[in-house]
Amino acid sequence: MEFFSAIWRPIVEILLIWGLLFYLIRFFQGTRAMQVLLGLMILAALFNFAKWLDLNTVNWVLTKLFAVGVVAILIIFQPELRRALARIGQNTFRGSFLRKGGTVDELVKACDHLSRNHVGALIAIERDVGLKNYIESGIMLDAKISAELLITLFSPNTITHDGGVIVVNDRIASCGSLFPLSQNMDLARSFGTRHRAAVGLTEETDTVCVIVSEESGAIAVSVYGKLTRGLDPEGLKRVLLSLFRPSENRQTLREFISKNWKVFKEKSTS
Ligand code: ATP
Ligand code: MG
Repeated sequence: MEFFSAIWRPIVEILLIWGLLFYLIRFFQGTRAMQVLLGLMILAALFNFAKWLDLNTVNWVLTKLFAVGVVAILIIFQPELRRALARIGQNTFRGSFLRKGGTVDELVKACDHLSRNHVGALIAIERDVGLKNYIESGIMLDAKISAELLITLFSPNTITHDGGVIVVNDRIASCGSLFPLSQNMDLARSFGTRHRAAVGLTEETDTVCVIVSEESGAIAVSVYGKLTRGLDPEGLKRVLLSLFRPSENRQTLREFISKNWKVFKEKSTS
């Protein structure tokens, strides 16, 4: 028994630490926190090296640096930390968007029409995290979803066409809402503010965003800070159904996840 624990303990410890580092790097990849994480790792290596060589002064300086560094990191990365904390415990998918039949069809019909006519659109569908602040940043509505209404709201030359529509359950809660722009440097430069606003909102919340590009007419979906482009209306419908009813649409969700696996790896698919 002693022999086994002597062998297994270090293996389990190495695996756990490796897993933790892997998760941290994945989580921070593409954000400005990545450089800081690398810097911290180098500092930790230096710290151990100094300890090993008994370099007391270097050790003292590094200890002080760490103490100040922790406070600085908390202040500088407050948005990232808030986001990470908000994500904890949000693993349940809410299906109320689909509670009444037809909502997905109306949304897909509108996107199809907008896409064919190259009219830009940004639609955020609320899940567990409330979007009250964002709803209040726009023009508040409380209207049943219909393709006609969505098309009208995004029509060029209307006051409501700028910004995003927010859908709560089967109702349009607001239009012209402003979302936070993503700072993700991995996003292609060709993505303008509409796509960045969608990604920004899904980085901070568990919202599902549907984007129609004015330039190309392409339909895209963003979840958890990732973007999938080039969906046709049928594909959009399948993706939305799989996101809101994962248990009945395992196959589609699996395909979607394989494109966005980084995001979904910690999410339950059942
Ligand atoms: P497209 O492919 O449609 O051109 P894009 O990603 O290139 O999209 P822009 O061309 O910059 O984006 O789109 C500008 C539009 O994006 C604005 O007219 C506005 O409706 C919307 N938009 C810009 N910023 C925000 C924001 N912070 N929140 C919500 N919508 C926004
Ligand atoms: Mg553009």
